[in-house]
Amino acid sequence: MSAVISILSDLIRIPSINPMGRSDCDPATCGEARMGRFLADWLAARSIRYQIQNVEPGRDNILAFLPATQNSASTILWEVHQDTVPVDNMTVLPFGGVVSQGRVYGRGACDVKGSMASMLAALEQLAQPEIFREKNLMVAFTVDEEHTFLGVQRLASEFDALLPPGWLRPECAIVAEPTHLDLVTCHKGVVRWVIRVKGRACHSSMPHEGANAVFAAAPVLAALESLASQIANGSSHPVLGTGTLSVGMVRGGSAPNIVPDTCEIIVDRRLVPGETAVMATVQVRSCLNGILVGRQGVTVSVDDPWLTCPPLPECVPDLVLESLLRNVQRHVPNAVTRPVSFGTDASSLAQIGIPSLVFGPGGIEQAHTKDEWVEIEQLNQAVSILFDCVAGIGHR
Ligand SMILES: [Zn+2]
Repeated sequence: MSAVISILSDLIRIPSINPMGRSDCDPATCGEARMGRFLADWLAARSIRYQIQNVEPGRDNILAFLPATQNSASTILWEVHQDTVPVDNMTVLPFGGVVSQGRVYGRGACDVKGSMASMLAALEQLAQPEIFREKNLMVAFTVDEEHTFLGVQRLASEFDALLPPGWLRPECAIVAEPTHLDLVTCHKGVVRWVIRVKGRACHSSMPHEGANAVFAAAPVLAALESLASQIANGSSHPVLGTGTLSVGMVRGGSAPNIVPDTCEIIVDRRLVPGETAVMATVQVRSCLNGILVGRQGVTVSVDDPWLTCPPLPECVPDLVLESLLRNVQRHVPNAVTRPVSFGTDASSLAQIGIPSLVFGPGGIEQAHTKDEWVEIEQLNQAVSILFDCVAGIGHR
C-alpha cells in the first residue's frame, strides 16, 4: 500500500465534522481539534517546522514550512481545509477509511482529506535530506471551510507576519478541493443574509389588532424576485456568466391561530469577479428601502452577511499557470484549466494578492455524498504533481 493511502485512511479515522451551525451532531465527532493535534504531531515526528495559528477555542490552523535548498527561491503555498460536512445517511463507514477496488471510502475521502493525504505524502518525500527543492513550501491546514471560512480568513489577515524571515510572498497558492486534477482558475463567490420582517402578534380571530409579518414578507419576496432577474440580466463575466440571487428559506409563524410577528427570509447571492459582498449588501438594502410604505407596525431589516466568500478571478500569471499545467499534464495528459461553480478558500487568498488556483484529486460530485470516495490512481498522481511543483521538474 502506498504511503498516501495509509495516510488517507488515518485522516478519515479522525472525525473532524463541522456542525455548520447545527446542534444535533455527535459532539464526539465534531470540531478540528483532533485533526489539528494529529497534524502537529505528524509534522513534529518528521522534524518539519510548523506553527499553530489559533482561530477559535479548539480550532487551530496548522502551518508547515519547508525551505528551498537554494537561497532567494520563490515560495509556493498549499492550502487545505481540515473540516468535513456531517455524516447523515451515509451508506459506507464514515470513519472507516476502507480501501476497496481502487478507491478509499469515508467522510472526507474526496472533500478534502484525499488532497490533504496527497499533500502530506508529497511533503514527507520533499522533506528527505537528499531531495533538491527549487521552491520554499508553506502548507496551511485551515479550519471551518465548510461553514464560514474563518480559518482562511484568519490566515489571510495575518499572512505576511506568518511568513518566515527572508521568504518571498507565494508566487502561487494551490488550494485543495476535488477538481479531478484539473487546474481551476476562477469561481463565483457567495454571500448570505437573513432578512427580518417584524410585525406584531395577536389572536388570528382579530387579525386587525396585530401586524402580520408573513403577509408583509410577500412584497419583500416580490422585490427580491425582481432584483434577481435584474442581476441575471446584468453585467456578465466572460467565463462565469452573471451573478445570481435566490431565496432559499422562509421561516415564519408558530400556529394557525396566531398572527405571526416575525418572518425570516434567507437569501443566497452568488457573486462574479467585480462584485463584492459589500456592494451586494447595499444593493439588497436599497432594493428593500421603503417597501412597506403604508403597512402599519411592520419593519424590515437586512442583517449583516453571516457568510461571505469572495469570487475568485483569474489571477495566476500566465507563465506560472503554463508551467503548472505542463507539470500536471506530464502525469495527467488530458488535464485542463477551467472554472467551477462552487466557492473555495482560494478567493480569500487571492484577495490579499496571492495568485491562487484550485486543484485536487476526486470529483466534486463525490463530495458530501452518502458513499464518499476517491480514486487511488488520482491520489498517486496528485502526490507526484505536488512533489514536482516544489522540487522542480528534473529533480525527481
Ligand atoms: Zn472542500
